Amino acid sequence: MASLNAGHPESPAEGSRRGREGERAEARGAEHDRPPGAGFGDPEARNISCGAPAHRSGNAAQGAETAVAVQQAAGSDPYFPEHGDARYRVHRYELALDYRPGPNRLAGSARINAIAGRSPLAEFFLNLSDFKIGRVRVDGRQPHYTHRGGRLRIRPAKPVRPGAAFTVEVHWSGNPKPVGSPWGGLGWEELEDGALVASQPIGAPSWYPCNDRPADKASYQISVTTPSAYAVVAGGRLLTRTTRASTTTWVYEQAAPTSSYLVGLAIGKYQTVLLGDPGPGGVPQHGHIPAHLLPEFSRDFARQPQMMDLFQELFGPYPFDEYAVVVTDEELDVPVEAQGLSLFGANHVDGARGSERLVAHELAHQWFGNSVSIADWRHIWLNEGFAKYAEWLWSERSGGRGAQQLAAAAHRLLSSLPQDLRLSDPGRKSMFDDRLYERGGLVLHAVRCVLGDEAFFRMLRGWAGLHRGGAVTTTTFTAHVNRYADEPLDALFEAWIHGTRLPPLPTRLPARPTHPPTNAESA
Ligand SMILES: [Zn+2]
Repeated sequence: MASLNAGHPESPAEGSRRGREGERAEARGAEHDRPPGAGFGDPEARNISCGAPAHRSGNAAQGAETAVAVQQAAGSDPYFPEHGDARYRVHRYELALDYRPGPNRLAGSARINAIAGRSPLAEFFLNLSDFKIGRVRVDGRQPHYTHRGGRLRIRPAKPVRPGAAFTVEVHWSGNPKPVGSPWGGLGWEELEDGALVASQPIGAPSWYPCNDRPADKASYQISVTTPSAYAVVAGGRLLTRTTRASTTTWVYEQAAPTSSYLVGLAIGKYQTVLLGDPGPGGVPQHGHIPAHLLPEFSRDFARQPQMMDLFQELFGPYPFDEYAVVVTDEELDVPVEAQGLSLFGANHVDGARGSERLVAHELAHQWFGNSVSIADWRHIWLNEGFAKYAEWLWSERSGGRGAQQLAAAAHRLLSSLPQDLRLSDPGRKSMFDDRLYERGGLVLHAVRCVLGDEAFFRMLRGWAGLHRGGAVTTTTFTAHVNRYADEPLDALFEAWIHGTRLPPLPTRLPARPTHPPTNAESA
């Protein structure tokens, strides 16, 4: 998402995305000990069995990197230990929902295909808010279950064997409401006329049962039945739309591995427009907008197809089948990314491209955050620093201020603020701190200054390609960058990522010669 913090001239006010600032609690950074992991830890191994692109190099450095990833991703999330169960993983969710906007009534059923971890699975949990639970089945048999504190604990009639596939079926109903958090309500939000789901980081259980950890990525089929006056937008490909009597059922398929928090949904009265002409092999880009905002939208998002072209050039192929943006008829504090989808508020369109940097920011998350995901929330700077740097790259390449100028502005801002934030582990309280975004962008600028443009963009494309559909850590990143550097950049990483004091502003050097210097040149 775009930064939540106040204090930056371009940032929206602090608070929940709909401005319920009173709900913001002064939660301290989480200091929970992680329980020992007993299940799936290795994001790369997981991807292979998920059917995502598998990448293996025989490189010893990568082996070490993977081992670190295993260790870091095992167990509960250090910032949200109540979310996600590492003893199993999900590879597909099939959700069938019936939603009535007036009474805000949701009835759902989920069919969840999962695989047990390395130990027999006598018990596991799904995260799900306070709904009335109907049927629960594990492989067709009735399990014992309890549902409290946002967790549906399930004890199958017979433990699931290590590594075995199993299917969980859950039916639930009730009035969905956002999950409370230090950042206000997250997840399912009832609007004046419709609903919106934006879950980062822990809002997904507000509407469906899930293994709510970012590294547990799965494919999704989502079917939503709602009164025919409403449009339903979800990330992914619209398979069918069927109208029966007064309701319409919309079925979406998202085949790419998707984190639970990135499953987005919008239900409302939207007009759909195609942005640009994707042409053969191009990425279809749709906008879903309240009709009265169409004039502003068509100006503000006019350059998004050019952004898509630029980012494909710089980061590699767009990782999903299509891209949609929704503008709600209400204000949102910040736009939010979802898989193949971004959600903006009415306040983000003004007909003067006033929020264009956020259009770039959310689009860049499709590569960084959505396709290349974080193994746990400590690594969020990998999402936000990359999206911030993409803003600067878009500015640089579209006639605005260059990355060096924007880096200098970010550096000035940071030097006026407390220097007590550690990118590699900011703490739960500071995970959406504006300083994390700016400093994250500066890390990439510092790396670019050392590597030079040719190696830097090769490194970026390598990162997006190698870890497409996967999950990564800060250690994965530093090991990756070092493969493109003449000498290990450990001192740079230590200062920028692991330290708290602000290092000096990195400066771009003139482009290096593309051929070895001759004797005459070096003389
Ligand atoms: Zn963001």
